[in-house]
Amino acid sequence: KVKTGLAQMLKGGVIMDVVTPEQAIIAERAGACAVMALECIPADMRKSGKVCRMSDPHMIKEIMAAVSIPVMAKVRIGHFVEAQILEALQVDYIDESEVLTPADWVHHIEKNNFKIPFVCGAKDLGEALRRINEGAAMIRTKGEAGTGDVSEAVKHINKIRGEIQQYKEALKEESDFEAKAAELRVPVELLKTTLANGTLPVVNFAAGGVATPADAALLMQLGCEGVFVGSGIFKSSDPEKLACAIVEATTHYDNPAKLLQVSSDLGEFHHHWSSSC
Ligand code: PLP
Repeated sequence: KVKTGLAQMLKGGVIMDVVTPEQAIIAERAGACAVMALECIPADMRKSGKVCRMSDPHMIKEIMAAVSIPVMAKVRIGHFVEAQILEALQVDYIDESEVLTPADWVHHIEKNNFKIPFVCGAKDLGEALRRINEGAAMIRTKGEAGTGDVSEAVKHINKIRGEIQQYKEALKEESDFEAKAAELRVPVELLKTTLANGTLPVVNFAAGGVATPADAALLMQLGCEGVFVGSGIFKSSDPEKLACAIVEATTHYDNPAKLLQVSSDLGEFHHHWSSSC
């Protein structure tokens, strides 16, 4: 029942936020495995203080026309009609994203009702398994989008992996599994499979605050299977170079010599945020 197939193809890759077809082309050329089509990047969204909704489908369509790699787009948490619209548009993946203003503070989208694959954010194992049970094909850390601060993403991946290890050792009897599954509000079989495999049953990416090649490699070494990069790239002084460097760092995440090479001379990129939104 868990949808694992499609998102597996993104493994080891970098997914870049883009707001124009030109940026999408740069991302594709730099080796991104997918792009996230947005009207406005999280750094600007955060500052705007306005309600943030799904992007204009026309703008998403222009980005889809510009590149051959998969295109993702965001919908508000719980906004299943925005998801119906993006499914009709035939984007490749939907991100049910906390970066936008939530539409429903209680329910997430019942993603099993859709054919299109979804990615959802999670801060801990329970949240990840609830989203997977709702039909998410991919999980990402929530991080702190638009900050350039990687620490929340680090916290979330460590929490998810730590809980898997901890419960794997602690849960012995059927009643232990049932109690933990009830506490996490997930089916006991999903919890058991996850603990037996020692990993989530879907691809698990890092997102939120990834700003440098070193950040991307850090999250990969901590067990993420790919990274989302938002505000960082197209706010930097040399987006193409930084995009390539982050792709290289994600591929060669355990090779310090390579990381040294791609970390040098990237120009200005720390917190170079503007407000164009
Ligand atoms: N994140 C946001 C933005 C939410 O609105 C909610 C719940 O409404 C959650 C996370 C947590 O949902 P759950 O407890 O089902 O994981």
